[in-house]
Amino acid sequence: MAAVLMDGKWLSEQLTQKQAQRVKELQEKGKTVTLSVVLVGDNPASQTYVRNKQLACEKLGILGSTVLLPGDISQQELENKLDMLCADESIDGVLLQLPLPKGLDEASALMHIPPEKDVDGFHTYNQGALFSGADGVVACTPKGVMYMLKTYGVPLSGKHAVVVGRSNIVGKPAALLLLQENCTVTVCHSRTEDLPSFTRQADILVAAVGKAGMITADMVKEGAAVVDVGINRVDGKLCGDVDFDAVKEKAGWISPVPGGVGKMTVAMLMENVIDAAEKRMTK
Ligand code: NDP
Repeated sequence: MAAVLMDGKWLSEQLTQKQAQRVKELQEKGKTVTLSVVLVGDNPASQTYVRNKQLACEKLGILGSTVLLPGDISQQELENKLDMLCADESIDGVLLQLPLPKGLDEASALMHIPPEKDVDGFHTYNQGALFSGADGVVACTPKGVMYMLKTYGVPLSGKHAVVVGRSNIVGKPAALLLLQENCTVTVCHSRTEDLPSFTRQADILVAAVGKAGMITADMVKEGAAVVDVGINRVDGKLCGDVDFDAVKEKAGWISPVPGGVGKMTVAMLMENVIDAAEKRMTK
């Protein structure tokens, strides 16, 4: 394998020790760090993600609780529940697991989590803060992508970063964070004509689409850093958007799926929860 493996599992384990220490220090000051996760309905993938978040909390000594709500809940009831949780002074972070069942308005529900408790960084205030370079909560997945690139020493300033995908939770914030690091950024999406002509120019290539193996070796520049955000299931097996086996022979750095960005996402969520608790303590 030519490429350096950007190992999200290893990186997140390194972070666990530091995070557990921060949680302990808060506990010694009488503060229990608390996260409340709201899960609506019974989507199996969401149940797995919520369980992983819960386990991560337990590992660090964060008090994590999951609020289960029925899939046929009304918008009003959901928003009332979020208002109630967010008003609870003992809770540092509130997370609404997405996607919501059909018929519920995600954007409206997310506005019921105030920016300081929005540990997912999805409130428009936090998105605006990222846009303007102000202090705010950064969404966990793109934050994890940047942590990974920086920790593995991937050169960023002046380099061409190509982000494939333009969602509000991954593609757009990843592009803004890369821009903050002085990359020259191109954002591609489903209407992009001749996608390979863009990806082949990338020194840093972030794939955030959700199509198994769509980034093939011929679409990658020799020595590029390839970050695979995609999570797909093929024949019951997890895989990313990148044809890992072929691309690893050409790239300079590559993140695997599983064991890559997914691990970083949970680690960054924990970081955002601890940050929120520390900020509340110093208020
Ligand atoms: P969305 O479905 O919201 O966005 C997908 C993006 O991909 C869209 O911008 C879409 O373009 C673009 N796209 C679709 N088809 C193509 C194509 N053929 N060529 C180029 N672009 C295309 O997904 P998310 O951003 O939420 O997630 C992306 C992937 O990352 C998914 O696999 C998801 O499961 C995974 N994910 C992983 C996380 C992790 O922790 N590792 C966390 C969050 C997501 P358009 O806008 O034009 O429709």
